[in-house]
Amino acid sequence: MELREITENVWYIPNVVNLGIIRDTDASVILIDTGIDSGVGKKIKKLLDQENLHLKYIINTHSHADHCGGNKYLQESTGAQIFAPEVEEAIIQHPYMEPWYLFSGAAPIKDLQNKFLMAKSSSVDQVIKNKDKTLQFEEAELNILSLPGHALNQIGIEYKSVCFCADSIFSEEVLAKHKVPFFIDIEKSLETLNYLLSTNFSFYVPAHATPSSKISNVIQENIKCLKTVENLIYETLTKPKTTEQLLRDVANHFGILLTRVNQYFLLKTPIQAYLSYLRNQNKIDINLSSNELLWYRDAKEIKN
Ligand SMILES: [Zn+2]
Repeated sequence: MELREITENVWYIPNVVNLGIIRDTDASVILIDTGIDSGVGKKIKKLLDQENLHLKYIINTHSHADHCGGNKYLQESTGAQIFAPEVEEAIIQHPYMEPWYLFSGAAPIKDLQNKFLMAKSSSVDQVIKNKDKTLQFEEAELNILSLPGHALNQIGIEYKSVCFCADSIFSEEVLAKHKVPFFIDIEKSLETLNYLLSTNFSFYVPAHATPSSKISNVIQENIKCLKTVENLIYETLTKPKTTEQLLRDVANHFGILLTRVNQYFLLKTPIQAYLSYLRNQNKIDINLSSNELLWYRDAKEIKN
């Protein structure tokens, strides 16, 4: 693990989930996200110790386990205070809610209660409200960016024109690998991507893409990916289908072979996000037939 300087007093740590470091006072720093588990937390602490930097604050961009899994270790070993956006904060404190919502709000199967989908619980010291535009620390003042869509209330952090944009943008490799990346709200994801496209920060640090000063091509690829999946789902509903049938057809179309239970639920949720998006625009309809809930396109639309 290493610190890479972006600009004076701002670094990122390249990692499976890229992490951010911002100097607040001479010896204390703010960490953006904590990685997937205590192991990552330990490595972060060791790195900061080597650099004589004291971890005083942690900001979580959202509640997914790979972004807050190191919280507990770091909170216990450094006493750092944790900041997280409202809603996300509830899941960070009650991580059972992640497998719980993935399992449609029923008590989740044990197969979903693993470190990839359920971080260790940590307590959030300060909730970042949706109306908050900035976070004032001892010396540094950070701008909060609202970036919902991948998670319900995801935020980004901007400081000195460096934008830590969490999981709002995925690399082309991630898009090519997953085909249907995890988004829970398509409308908001598109708004977030278009917002980022309109910004002109000097440097962007997405959690799952190479940090770069030029990000517009990657943003365009993300928009294209969302549109491709949306069109595919729309086109495939010329025949009424259940959610399960649709999921199978989308997976088959992309050559995805689901082999793990996690994978299935991480595909089902975005599929439902697209269905919700299409339904709420009245582009598709719902029919209950023989006790099956079927999604379908308007018959007039199909004839055209
Ligand atoms: Zn995430």
